[in-house]
Amino acid sequence: MLAVDRAWRHQYSDLREARAAAAEAIALAGEADDQRALAHAMFQAAYAAIRSGDPVEASASATRCRTLFDDLKDERGIWLAEAAQAICLRLDGEPDRSIRLLQDLASRPPRDASPTDLFVVHVALSLGYRWVGLLEPALKWHYQAVDTARDTHDLLLLASTLCNLGGYHSDLHNPEEGCRLLEEGLHLAAACNADRTTVIIALNLSQAYTWLGRHDEALKLAEQYLPVERYLLAMGGNEPMIPLTLALAYANAGRADEARRTFDGVRDTLIRSKHEEGTPHVFWTYVEARIALVANEPARAAQIALATLNELDEIAVDSPSDLMQLHATAAAACEMIGDDRRALFHERCRAVIRERLARLAAHVASLTHTIRHELDTTRAERDRILALHSELEREHQRLAALNSALTAQIAENLRLHDELKEQNYRDALTGLHNRRYLYERGPRLLDFSLQNTIPLCLVMLDLDHFKRLNDKHGHVAGDRVLVALGKLLRDGLRENDVICRVGGEEFAMVLPTTTAAIARERLLGMLDECRRIQLPDGDETLPGELTFSAGIAEAPAQGTTIDALMIAADRLLYKAKNDGRARIEAGAETPPATFIASLAAREPIDQ
Ligand code: GH3
Ligand code: MG
Ligand code: MG
Repeated sequence: MLAVDRAWRHQYSDLREARAAAAEAIALAGEADDQRALAHAMFQAAYAAIRSGDPVEASASATRCRTLFDDLKDERGIWLAEAAQAICLRLDGEPDRSIRLLQDLASRPPRDASPTDLFVVHVALSLGYRWVGLLEPALKWHYQAVDTARDTHDLLLLASTLCNLGGYHSDLHNPEEGCRLLEEGLHLAAACNADRTTVIIALNLSQAYTWLGRHDEALKLAEQYLPVERYLLAMGGNEPMIPLTLALAYANAGRADEARRTFDGVRDTLIRSKHEEGTPHVFWTYVEARIALVANEPARAAQIALATLNELDEIAVDSPSDLMQLHATAAAACEMIGDDRRALFHERCRAVIRERLARLAAHVASLTHTIRHELDTTRAERDRILALHSELEREHQRLAALNSALTAQIAENLRLHDELKEQNYRDALTGLHNRRYLYERGPRLLDFSLQNTIPLCLVMLDLDHFKRLNDKHGHVAGDRVLVALGKLLRDGLRENDVICRVGGEEFAMVLPTTTAAIARERLLGMLDECRRIQLPDGDETLPGELTFSAGIAEAPAQGTTIDALMIAADRLLYKAKNDGRARIEAGAETPPATFIASLAAREPIDQ
C-alpha cells in the first residue's frame, strides 16, 4: 500500500514516476498475494495512464481494477474503478457517455469515500464538460474540484487544480478571476517545489497579466520562471509558448533587444513546425510583429502581421484574443507607415473581436459569481451541520459521562443501603442477628414449615448467673463471654439456622426442619462446650463452668406464630431455670391431627 501511496503522490507531479510506482505496487501486491493492494495499484496504473493519454493501457488497468474490487465486494473500490472506466470512455472518443456515468457516480459517492476519491470524479467531470464545450457545467465542476482538492489538504493537487481553472478563465477571456486563482496556485506550487506546475502556472499568469495590461508584473514573473534553462529543466521538452511569452513580456516592457534575442532562440523550431497542429502560429506572429513595432520598425511589423492575416484561411487560429492582438498590431503598424485605410480596417476587426470577447467575459464573470456563491453557501451549510454534529457529539459524551457517574452513584447507594439494612439487623457486640431480624425472617421460615408440614423449633436461651460474672469480673469480661457464646452458637448450628441476641444475655434461635428432640440434642452438645469455654482475663483465666438454660418450642405443637412460640419457649426456659439451670426443656410432641387442624385455622400466607 506504500507503493500505491507513492504512485498517487506522483500523479500530479511526475507522471513517469507515477507509472513506475504503480507498476512496482502491482508487482509487490502480486508477490504478497494481497488482492486489495493489487486492486488499488491497478487504479493508480489506470489513472497514470489516463493522465499520460494512453487509452489502451488505461482501459486495461481500469477493467482489471474493477474485476478485483468486484471480487472483494468493496463498494468504495468499485465506485473508484467505475470512475476510471468512465474517464476512459472520454479517451476512447465517447465524452457524452463518460460524462453521464461520472454524473451518476458523483450523485452517489460511497459512504467511506475520501476527498481524494471525490476529487478524481469531480476533476474528471470538469475536464469532460470542458472537452465537449459546455461552459456552465465545466465551470461549476472546476470550482467543485478546487473545493474538493482543498479538502484533501494536498497542496500540489490544489495548485494543479487552481492552475487548470485559472488557465480556463484565461481561455475564456476573464483574466481577473484567472489571475486570482493562478496567483494562489503559483504560491502553493512554488512552496511545494513543484517545478513543472510552477512553470505552467507562471506561463498562464504572465499571459493573464499581459492581457490586463499589467506589463511590469508579467515581465517580472516571466523573467523569474520562464528563462530557457529553467523551463527546459522543469518541462523536459521544448515548449515554444514559454519563450514566446517571455519575449512578449520583454517587448511590452519596451526591451526590444532582449525580446528579439529570446524570440530568435525559438524561431527555427517554430518555422520547422509551422504547419503542424498545435503550433501557436497567430500568437507567434503577433509576438514577432509586436517586437518589430517596439523596435521602431513599423514597416517590418506591418509586413509580418499582414502576411499571417492574409493566410488566415490556411492556418489554425490558436485563440481569438491572439488574433485580436495581431489585428491591433497591424493597425498600429499601418498607421505608423501612413496606410490609414488598412489601419482602419484592422482596427475595426480588432473592435469586433473585442466586443465578442467582452460579451463572453461578462457571461463567464456572472456565471462564476453565481457558482462561487452557491459553493460558498453549500460549504457554509456543510460546516454548520458539521459543527452541529460535533456539538451534539460533545453533548452526548457529556451526558454519557453524567449517566455513568449517576449509575455508579446509584450502585454505591444501593450498596450503602444494603450495608445499613444489614447493620440494622445485626447485634453490634456478637455479630449475630438481632430481634428485628427474628421478626423479619422468623415468620417466613415458620410459614414455609407450616405449609410444607416440616417441623421447626424456636429456642430461647439465657446464660446462668451472668449477673454474678459481671459483678465479679466486670462488664468487659462479661462482653467477652457473650461474644464467645455467640461464636459457640454460630459454630454449633447450621448456616440457615437463625441466631439472634434478643436481650442482654438472652438468645432466640429459629431452627427450620428440626424437631424439639433433635434441637435438644444439639443444645445439650453446645451446653457441654459452653462449660469448657476458657477465656483469658489479664494474666488469669476466667473461671469455667459457664452454663446456660434453654427452652425449646416446636411448631406447630407449641404455636403457629413466632410470638406464640416465643412465649412457649420462654415458659420452658423459666422452668429450666427453676429446675436448677444448666438444662434444656423441650415442649411435648403433638399428634399430626392437631397439627393439621392448627394449619387449617391459619390464614393463607405469601411465601
Ligand atoms: P439467671 O441465671 O437467673 O439468668 O441470672 P442472671 O444473673 O443471669 O440474670 P439477671 O437477669 O439477674 O442478670 C442479667 C445480667 O446481664 C444483668 C446485666 O448486668 C447483664 N447484662 C445485660 N446486658 C449486658 C451486656 O451487654 N454486657 C454485659 N457484660 N452484661 C450485660
Ligand atoms: Mg441470665
Ligand atoms: Mg436474663
